[in-house]
Amino acid sequence: MTNSSPAKLIDRFGRTVDYLRISITDRCDFRCVYCMAEDMTFLPRNQILSLEEIYTLAQTFVELGVKKIRITGGEPLIRKGALELLHQIGVLNGLHELVLTTNGSQLVTAAPTLKAANVKRLNISLDTLNANKFKELTRTGDLKNVLNGIQAAKKEGFERIKLNAVILKNRNHTEVCDLVQFAIDNEIDISFIEEMPLGIVEKHNRAEAYYSSDEIRRDLEQRFTLIQSTEKTNAPSDYSDIPNTQTRVGFISPHSHNFCSTCNRVRLTVEGRLLLCLGNEHSIDLKTILRAPDFSSEKLKQAIINSMEIKPEKHEFNVKEQPVIFRYMNMTGG
Ligand code: SAM
Ligand code: SF4
Repeated sequence: MTNSSPAKLIDRFGRTVDYLRISITDRCDFRCVYCMAEDMTFLPRNQILSLEEIYTLAQTFVELGVKKIRITGGEPLIRKGALELLHQIGVLNGLHELVLTTNGSQLVTAAPTLKAANVKRLNISLDTLNANKFKELTRTGDLKNVLNGIQAAKKEGFERIKLNAVILKNRNHTEVCDLVQFAIDNEIDISFIEEMPLGIVEKHNRAEAYYSSDEIRRDLEQRFTLIQSTEKTNAPSDYSDIPNTQTRVGFISPHSHNFCSTCNRVRLTVEGRLLLCLGNEHSIDLKTILRAPDFSSEKLKQAIINSMEIKPEKHEFNVKEQPVIFRYMNMTGG
């Protein structure tokens, strides 16, 4: 993981793309209410990229100047062979950071292997500390198992473990202070995410569930002092420090605060679609290029470079007119 490749992915607005998020499966052992329908149909095997194809794409993107790769899903750790794939990507020459987003369900056993695979940081989803609510929100998840997974990850000494919490009004919005206290006690970070309107989820009204980052911040300020962080990142997150703690609190606010002007990322779906924006359908089909009889790595690279021409300037989310985007978050690689 040395020697940076020069940036080759620059879009029409002068933004350099050096961050790739890869969804390595659309499947998941949870069914979070904001992410999936209860009864999901997942993709058949021949429609999804093989692990070898994912590796080829990761390698190509790194050759084109990508410095950070996030592996996500679905739940990435339930795909067979995921740990070996992480091992291979983790040593790509030119990649600075391999990171992972997980629901934590497999961490008790997977944490040591992830550390050995050069995974630098982990984002672990945790929306509530109440076991019953956890079951309601994830439909199938077990809170205790995830909490044990967080401890297993801490034991491995990952840098800056971060919790991701999607906050929904009247579901878990009263828990934001407890979640931050949990992060402080465990010396880890936490980000609060506004729900994004991806896919139709039955029995779940997104407009009603919307709880803004400003409301979360206001609630937290009743109990904690939040100092705006001066650290500049390209992340769509606005960070605050809590004095005398190790914890940083992030707010990811696609609705209330637009974060597109510094966007440096693209997403690869498990079907091999390169999505150029989370909130738009602009994409190119890399699977067809990979599987073409006359495949060449030069053609693949050129297609990726050309895709920069269609990266949209910004997303247009509107919770009141759902759905804006018909794909689900597990297909998108959130
Ligand atoms: N299964 C893994 C997990 O839950 O961390 C990785 C994939 S999941 C799609 C990635 C992140 O997207 C999670 O933090 C999840 O809470 C978030 N997410 C899923 N659906 C969302 C939505 N509609 N709006 C905002 N965030 C969402
Ligand atoms: Fe699975 Fe993550 Fe979606 Fe929850 S948010 S259903 S854990 S992919």
